[in-house]
Amino acid sequence: MNSIAHMNDPAARLLAELVRIPSVNPMGRAVSGGEYGESALAEHVAAFLHRHRIDVRVTEVSPGRPNVTGYIDAGAERTLMLQAHLDTVHVGGMTVAPFGAEIRDGCLYGRGACDTKGSLAAFLQAAVEAVQAPKNLRYNVILLATADEEYQFTGARHAVRSGLKADMGIAGEPTSLQIIRAHKGVVRWHLHTRGTAAHAAYPARGDNAIYRMGHILTRLESYARGLTAGVAHPLLGTPSLSVGVIAGGEAVNIVPDACSIEIDRRTMPHEDADGVMADVQECLAGIEGWELAPPHLVASGMDIPADAPVVRELSQAISGVTGTVAIEGAYYATDAGTFNAGGIPTVVFGPGDIALAHTVAEHIPLAELRQATDIIRSLLVAH
Ligand SMILES: [Zn+2]
Repeated sequence: MNSIAHMNDPAARLLAELVRIPSVNPMGRAVSGGEYGESALAEHVAAFLHRHRIDVRVTEVSPGRPNVTGYIDAGAERTLMLQAHLDTVHVGGMTVAPFGAEIRDGCLYGRGACDTKGSLAAFLQAAVEAVQAPKNLRYNVILLATADEEYQFTGARHAVRSGLKADMGIAGEPTSLQIIRAHKGVVRWHLHTRGTAAHAAYPARGDNAIYRMGHILTRLESYARGLTAGVAHPLLGTPSLSVGVIAGGEAVNIVPDACSIEIDRRTMPHEDADGVMADVQECLAGIEGWELAPPHLVASGMDIPADAPVVRELSQAISGVTGTVAIEGAYYATDAGTFNAGGIPTVVFGPGDIALAHTVAEHIPLAELRQATDIIRSLLVAH
């Protein structure tokens, strides 16, 4: 299809609208307005649902950071949640117009095109097409668009804490139309060493916090090697640990009295934050003068049985459209972990390739966007 033919697809038109509205996650920085925050996009999504006579509610998670919830009461026994996040990562260094929604060779380019406005467009459009179909819906449908997936998962958490209930869910992320039924979680925290400052000409008068961190890093490196040498989960491999940031010292002529690192620990579905922090504490036994800060990010992993209804029913819908279905695990964390921890069995599924997410030329094949829309519509319509 050429670009004009693609733009006859309402899913492609909707995606272009969503990409043109910036919704960059401030990622903890004190920036607001302009391209930052999800407000403008949330308003657009709410207006779309309202226009199609779907009940809609906008809830503030924090100032300028809303969730949007649409609800379709089909009088069905079960409720299906279709969720996608509103936020994107930053646009620095992009080689395509980040909010241009330009179409080239059957692909739509821009920030969020695949992560994850593609899923959002497919879910919204599929719901509208299903409601307009002459057949009854198989489920009541919750359409949930959340804030802040790319940083602290606060939108999904807020929804679960506010009493979100569904029998099953699909979290939209670019999985190339595969089902992710298990993924790891993540815990992040800082570790600080303390020492005593002194003039660098008299180092014996001080106590070097960077040297102390050096001992800790050596221990952590071998601890991390041990983690990845353990027994591998069939879909998720092993847990892992990485030290990604280090900071310490004021000037080269001063013995440093403080040093900090930031640790990223990828967790298996059965692990919790307290347990992994206790393990690290134990691995550093015998070294003095350090402390762990409480974790600043905890996201749950998840592992749904292969025969769970959400996996079976979505599989049927996928193979009905594409003729083939793959069920996988992923090493990254998503909002799905939060929903599973909140009692809603939720898989990850959506159009687009995760390898293109967060990249300088992010894009999505529009043919795949249409397939995702067809899959979700056929899932929603009773057979
Ligand atoms: Zn995403």
